[in-house]
Amino acid sequence: MYQHTCIAYVTDRSAKLIHGLSRAANVTWGIKHEAMKTIYKGAILPLLLYGAPVWIEVMKHEFNRRKYIRIQRMINILTAKAFRTTSNEALCILTGLTPIIIKREEAVRLYNARKIRGSQPQEIDYAVEYKNWPHPAEGAIIIEDEDTKDPTVLAQTDGSKSELGVGCGTVIYKGNKIATQITTRLDSKCSNNQAEQTAIIKALEAIATLNIPQNNLRRAKVYTDSRVTLDSLQNPRNHAYLIGEIRKRVATLQESNWKIKFSWVKAHARIPGNEKADKLAKEAARNRLIDITYSRLPLSSVHHDIQLDSIKRWQKEWQTCTKAQTMKQFFPSVEERLKKKIKITQNVSAMLTGRTRAYLHRFKISDNAQCICRQGDQTVEHLIYDCILLETQRSTLRMNVTKNGQWPADKHELITKHQKHLIDYIESIDFDKL
Ligand SMILES: [Zn+2]
Repeated sequence: MYQHTCIAYVTDRSAKLIHGLSRAANVTWGIKHEAMKTIYKGAILPLLLYGAPVWIEVMKHEFNRRKYIRIQRMINILTAKAFRTTSNEALCILTGLTPIIIKREEAVRLYNARKIRGSQPQEIDYAVEYKNWPHPAEGAIIIEDEDTKDPTVLAQTDGSKSELGVGCGTVIYKGNKIATQITTRLDSKCSNNQAEQTAIIKALEAIATLNIPQNNLRRAKVYTDSRVTLDSLQNPRNHAYLIGEIRKRVATLQESNWKIKFSWVKAHARIPGNEKADKLAKEAARNRLIDITYSRLPLSSVHHDIQLDSIKRWQKEWQTCTKAQTMKQFFPSVEERLKKKIKITQNVSAMLTGRTRAYLHRFKISDNAQCICRQGDQTVEHLIYDCILLETQRSTLRMNVTKNGQWPADKHELITKHQKHLIDYIESIDFDKL
């Protein structure tokens, strides 16, 4: 019961916020749609998503879902300068805002991925838990110091990420000779940083096995081109998993008399050892015969997957939605729509949502479906392809379209291949006079 009251409170507060905004929008006519989106994302959406993880049950009630959809409709109408009869499905496509119910589910899943260890099918690269933090004195990391004595061992490390995969390469030099070369692979969803850090770990592990007597000088210098890694290593507040693993190994090496130093090397600067590590990493990334030794996913890739999944769900809803036929002809694909930047003006909104005389007539808002030209009902098709009153503008549009396509092009093709020319055409129409 308490949660139902909360939902009423949240939706009421959002509604009040939006009413305030809509008054401001009327005064200044109007808040640009991009600004509106920013306000939505910054102020209203957090309110609507507040408590999402604990309110899953409540959202199963149609009654509560409708409250949320109603709020989103209000903001959508304001953002899109659209008509009150336009469906929320069409509006979401027009504004590019994820339908609120899907957005809430996404918020729950993101929350779970972030907070609940073991909630995801694949292990995630969570930071080290507080109780497992090392003592700050352990594994102190030294990056370049005044000590210029030659190291006994030199390690070059590098990571590589491409569409072929993620890999890392390590080359260990003893004296001037290569002592060991190591290649390993990471899960293809792992990041380049993770690969850089795994390469360092492999280097430290290899150094530990080198046969150098305890009473000899034990100095090693580890090179990386990853600034992020060096910064993270030096930051005592950074407890990322791999950073922790590096510190642990450094601490163990120090216990057996090693002095480990890290150094930054400029990538692709033709430094021979570094070039070699780079080559090994690139080879490892694409060689499926090499074992994957690291597969904890970065949270960012989990986020990305969850967001992709939201788009898939949205697409499915969009496909099965029986309303919004005109908008669907322009944008059958959600993903495609989201990749586009479209300035939504009243004209654009009217044309894409199909707010023409025929439409207004259907909703009994106007008593005549006929276009001013008296040559037929004023539909979107009529306005784009037939209306004789728009012949001048249309000849410009046709000329531009035929430069790299055919006329007539269908609505989807017009907006995907000829967006600028179509928008120019739409903006040239005086809807008040038509
Ligand atoms: Zn006409």
